[in-house]
Amino acid sequence: MSDCDFDLFVIGGGSGGVRAARMAAALGVRVALAEEKQLGGTCVNLGCVPKKLFVHAAHYGEDFHHATGYGWQFSTPPRFDWPTLRDRKTADIQRINGAFDKMVSKAGVTLFRGRASLQDAHTVVVNGQSYRTERILLTPGGHPHVPEFPGREHVMVSDDAFFLETLPESILIVGGGYIAVEFAGIFNGLGVDTRLLYRRDKVLRGFDDDIRDFVGNELEKKGITLQFNSTIERIDRQHDGALQATLGDGQTVQAGQIFYATGRRPNITGLNLDTVGVETAPTGAIIVNDQFQTSVPSIYALGDVIDRVQLTPVALAEAMNLVARFYKGQDRPMDYSNIPTAVFSQPDIGTVGLTEQAAREQGFHVAIYRSEFRELKHALSGSTERALMKLVVDSKTDKVLGVHMVGGAAAEIVQGFAVALKAGATKSVFDQTIGVHPTSAEELVTMREPV
Ligand code: FAD
Ligand code: NDP
Repeated sequence: MSDCDFDLFVIGGGSGGVRAARMAAALGVRVALAEEKQLGGTCVNLGCVPKKLFVHAAHYGEDFHHATGYGWQFSTPPRFDWPTLRDRKTADIQRINGAFDKMVSKAGVTLFRGRASLQDAHTVVVNGQSYRTERILLTPGGHPHVPEFPGREHVMVSDDAFFLETLPESILIVGGGYIAVEFAGIFNGLGVDTRLLYRRDKVLRGFDDDIRDFVGNELEKKGITLQFNSTIERIDRQHDGALQATLGDGQTVQAGQIFYATGRRPNITGLNLDTVGVETAPTGAIIVNDQFQTSVPSIYALGDVIDRVQLTPVALAEAMNLVARFYKGQDRPMDYSNIPTAVFSQPDIGTVGLTEQAAREQGFHVAIYRSEFRELKHALSGSTERALMKLVVDSKTDKVLGVHMVGGAAAEIVQGFAVALKAGATKSVFDQTIGVHPTSAEELVTMREPV
């Protein structure tokens, strides 16, 4: 459309939006990008990156302790200083924000700093100015969701965890998903008395049941109190500033902070979706077809706002798929199979492919290979931490359907095995692969007998 200011206007400069804008601009497309906060979105500012830095910090707590088993001696016990971690993390994120700013401007993207909304199917408004564009891409991401109950104003969410003024002495974390489990490990590792409260009987619904049980056990061994089959009815602030949660069964629990990690909701407020006719699901997720097209043909959406798989590499892949379709003539649907994922708990979880339960439900005749062991590092560390490796194999075709593991480097290891699964590797290929010794990962190519 020659009367347009831009060919593509992207709303939201997070993982998906920045990738789409950069890739399209590199192909000579006239791209605009609107971001109301910092470039990089949730992942860089309030998610993956600062979270992983905190995970490293939490690990040091036990690493110092383990080191004594290897002969290291400390004249004074190591002491943790929260403001140092918080502020050094923030400084590093600012460095990354600067790198994103440079990357976007170098790519030739026109960047608007401000909150954008839709005026019509081809017009975006930002900072009071309207811009005509051939296509619009919505990548506004999501925000933490706290259910309605008396006292919800007292709780903190993941966004707050990165900027706490002081580290509480105790914390009650509500939820059993990625964020609840990861932050339980972080706070516990930093020396906070940590309790995780969840409405079901084991954490991480959707993960392999063996992994869920095993990780639950490991979290408890690290000193995290797990309180299952529990819900919170109300929260009150006590005279001493502490919070008191009253549970469904009438019990009360006190904590310095109560952290809700009960899922996320799409950022659609103020986008003007209804007026323009962009349909959403009851959760607020923007409904798209397999080409990321909304109910308005010139408007597209991807990333967390479509609520398919809320992971950065998935938002990136969706963005590249969309740009390839728009500007390179490719017509390949996005492949959501065998997405590897990790939970950065202590120890890590790494997983790719079908769980045993999903494989059985899908009618596969499965053979399960399973190994549980103490990693070599812990021969001297004094830790009782254990590792678990599990393969789910289709016994008819010998294809490996799923790789699941818990262990010190599970998140790193699973990336390579995701390539094998994507290539359709069979158990016999795993068996023919020579291990790397001595590692934990070699266990995945040396399990010979199904359980
Ligand atoms: P976002 O990255 O959320 O970007 C959306 C952007 O749009 C934001 O910058 C927002 O300010 C902007 N925006 C919104 N509305 C407007 C508007 N109207 N105008 C202008 N700008 C607007 N994923 C992983 O793969 N690995 C991890 O380890 C991991 N850890 C996580 C930890 C936490 C605590 C959280 C919360 C998430 C984590 N995730 C992780 C998920 C990951 O961060 C998201 O899946 C990813 O950021 C989604 O990218 P997106 O582009 O859809 O949205
Ligand atoms: P999740 O969807 O993973 O977990 C939400 C948890 O909250 C579930 O245990 C859920 O229980 C529980 N819950 C939901 N509603 C309520 C309620 N009303 N009362 C009590 N409990 C409730 O969301 P998160 O917030 O942990 O994380 C959001 C997403 O961000 C993740 O799904 C993931 O995609 C991404 N992420 C990825 C990470 C990584 O890659 N390492 C790290 C962090 C986040 P139930 O199971 O019963 O529904």
